[in-house]
Amino acid sequence: FDMFFLAFVERLFRPTFKKDDLVLGKKLGEGAFGVVYRASLAKKPSSKVPYQKEGDLVLKKATEYGAVEIWMNERVRRACANSCADFVHGFLENSSKKGAEYWLIWRYEGEATLYDLMQSKEFPYNVETMMLREVQDLPRGLERENRIIQTIMRQLLFALDGLHSTGIVHRDFKPQNIIFSEGSRTFKIIDLGAAADLRVGINYIPKEFLLDPRYAAPEQYIMSTQTPSAPSAPVATALSPVLWQMNLPDRFDIYSAGLIFLQMAFSGLRSDSALIQFNRQLKRCDFDLNAWRKSIEPRASSDLRKGFELLDLDGGIGWELLTSMVRYKAGQRISAKGALAHPYFDREGLLVLSLMQ
Ligand code: ADP
Ligand code: MG
Repeated sequence: FDMFFLAFVERLFRPTFKKDDLVLGKKLGEGAFGVVYRASLAKKPSSKVPYQKEGDLVLKKATEYGAVEIWMNERVRRACANSCADFVHGFLENSSKKGAEYWLIWRYEGEATLYDLMQSKEFPYNVETMMLREVQDLPRGLERENRIIQTIMRQLLFALDGLHSTGIVHRDFKPQNIIFSEGSRTFKIIDLGAAADLRVGINYIPKEFLLDPRYAAPEQYIMSTQTPSAPSAPVATALSPVLWQMNLPDRFDIYSAGLIFLQMAFSGLRSDSALIQFNRQLKRCDFDLNAWRKSIEPRASSDLRKGFELLDLDGGIGWELLTSMVRYKAGQRISAKGALAHPYFDREGLLVLSLMQ
């Protein structure tokens, strides 16, 4: 893997974008490891800028983990471009007063994350409007909400399948890291800052503190026994596909995707505090969703009852998919590809299933 590593280093130290080529706009986010701004290209960018197209950009000034995030984005751009926000360029910027920073540039995909959209009382209809820009003839109600949620879940699983087939596990899959792309009118994944590339063995930071506990699967972090805890540079260790098979690290993201599915179905579980409370309840039920349902359903609020009703449509096929994603043992969770082939997404399958009942 020396070749990979050298190509990576070479890229980082060949800045084609300069600081002055960008005009910074509004701050979009600030985490422990970087700040994100809206940005645009300067009127007269230097001739070396590889990106001369019009349009808004997003700039992340990242600290030490920026190197890995550049690696991941370059790999995604080559292998599964549609899964993630459109990456433009990443480089090491030395001129900052704060010392070296990694600068990452993407195309500005749109203003709303799935988190923003889910906080609205209009969800999921607000998503339908953004996707279709026309009103459905189906009356408002569970059936229509279920269809919209199906469409969103299919897009999320499709994007995850792209990442996983490339050998990348995201590890921070949550509504805040899913952006609605106004150009393609689909959801795309962002923030590969905690991702692991298992084919090449680049896995900087399997530290729990990087993972969002609200969406993390019970195994907490993946490949823990195989990877060093916090090396100071990208490690190139060969992890065979066999290891991938044994540990099924991709199922970490599937658990998170299951929690997102849950939050979309149950409006009462969309807030952070409700999700934290749910996690506590599920843990008390040994991560058995059916046991959780038994314990909660008799005294469920109308919000929760509506969620069960939605997942029970078409013979309970939604609930079936949800319970195959949110399971204690990674090996028992469905894969992204498997989930995409699940009858929940299959109209004819739905029909067959309801006829069988
Ligand atoms: P952080 O490490 O701060 O979580 P993210 O990569 O998640 O960084 O970006 C922070 C926020 O910036 C996102 O939640 C989103 O609102 C916005 N953002 C990031 N990338 C894009 C993009 N390509 N287009 C539009 N907005 C983006
Ligand atoms: Mg983020």
